[in-house]
Amino acid sequence: LPASCLVMGEVCVRVAVRIRPLLPKEVLHNHQVCVRVVPDSAQVMLGSDRTFSFDHAFGPTASQDQFYESCVKPLVASLVDGYNATVFAYGQTGSGKTYTLGGGHVASLVEEESGIIGQAAADLFLLLGERRAADVRSAADVRVSYVELYREELRDLLELHTAHRELHIREDDRGNTVVVGARETVITSAEELQSVLEAGNALRHTGPTQMNERSSRSHAIVTVQLTQHNHDDGSVRSSKLHLVDLAGSERAARTGNTGLRLKESVHINTGLLALGNVIRALSDPHRRGNHVPYRDAKITRLLRDSLGGSAHTLMVACVSPSHHNVTETLSVLQFASRAR
Ligand code: ADP
Ligand code: MG
Repeated sequence: LPASCLVMGEVCVRVAVRIRPLLPKEVLHNHQVCVRVVPDSAQVMLGSDRTFSFDHAFGPTASQDQFYESCVKPLVASLVDGYNATVFAYGQTGSGKTYTLGGGHVASLVEEESGIIGQAAADLFLLLGERRAADVRSAADVRVSYVELYREELRDLLELHTAHRELHIREDDRGNTVVVGARETVITSAEELQSVLEAGNALRHTGPTQMNERSSRSHAIVTVQLTQHNHDDGSVRSSKLHLVDLAGSERAARTGNTGLRLKESVHINTGLLALGNVIRALSDPHRRGNHVPYRDAKITRLLRDSLGGSAHTLMVACVSPSHHNVTETLSVLQFASRAR
């Protein structure tokens, strides 16, 4: 992120698109690729004639490292400089959101395969180590919380006993958003973060529905809270990084549902729409200074102090390359390109 975006008073919203490879079973069933990155550009082409522009575009051969280095690393640096940041993954179920964030399965945690969360944590501790080496009078602590937002109800994934109790969002007198009662676990390494998140995922498994089913219908939010103390002048600096795995976007469009599914769809719809509206309000120069509709949904209330203002935001739009998903891919590309 160019430093100038703060100097010029611009809001830092970036949009990246990531097209995953065809999965082995899709290859087996002869799925055709319907969306590609336009070479040497940040554009993608759907079919043979529709192009969409973004800040970054990654095709199926892009590695986790490449994605992290160009899109997320600058956010971690700004976190250490005291700025809040949010990364959220948007897209239909099966498009690569969890893969990209890397909050998912233990099996995918081979070093070079590690997603945004693991790499961000490793980088963070590296940067804090350098700071500490340069100035022994500085100290930092890192805490993590992990919550799930399902049907507009917020639950703690790190606390077995309170997992069935609803958490509440408040704003403190300095304008910081606080989730009252959410457990914060101190971590001292990237590995510790990983095991904390695995415990959280295990808790997610124990619900009445299966992980995959459930994860497509809820938002999962990992928050890394950094507090830096300077013992020379006694100052304390707090900043946080949210890493958000959003509910599957296909739920927002689906109609004809009834009962519980309908209620879920309505909530997901509200959340994703609100997020889109907030991002659009923030990135539109003509609307700057105007009302930003944070209060419309819990997800935007929760992220409020880390969307807009001096915070840096990265939206990752994940898409499947398969022609079977072309309708959903089109709507994700439209949503994402409107957010810029
Ligand atoms: P989502 O979280 O959006 O539902 P997943 O992250 O679970 O989707 O991805 C669906 C499948 O695609 C998984 O098997 C995952 O390993 C695979 N996948 C996603 N993105 C990539 C990628 N960039 N490279 C290789 N495999 C990927
Ligand atoms: Mg997922």
